[in-house]
Amino acid sequence: MAACIFCKIIKGEIPSMKLFESERTFAFLDIQPLSRGHSLIIPKHHGAKLHDIPDDQLHEILPVAKKIASAVGCEDYNILQNNGRIAHQVVDHVHFHMIPKPNEKEGLGIGWPAE
Ligand code: 5GP
Repeated sequence: MAACIFCKIIKGEIPSMKLFESERTFAFLDIQPLSRGHSLIIPKHHGAKLHDIPDDQLHEILPVAKKIASAVGCEDYNILQNNGRIAHQVVDHVHFHMIPKPNEKEGLGIGWPAE
């Protein structure tokens, strides 16, 4: 969809810190991370809500979230998908957050991967 910011990120028209790409799936760092490694995993198929996305476009989402969590050395994290305005969805292209839970030593860990 032409006006969708996540479609533009997939096409490279808006820059992102890309973490993973395949035929169906794209993953990148969230621009306003809640913790170090906060990532977004999205189907390339455009759809605003989960029920707009065909099942076969969703198969890779959790495996990719697991890969990214392992890559950033994170064992404890939340997977979150806000679906609809009342559920706090802001960007109308289905996306899954992978939000690492920082350990006591690291605090919030904001700043990855720059530090
Ligand atoms: P939502 O509330 O819709 O589940 O979350 C949307 C997420 O997309 C937010 O965490 C926000 O920081 C992130 N986001 C919005 N615009 C951009 C962008 O242009 N680039 C990146 N990397 N993340 C974005």
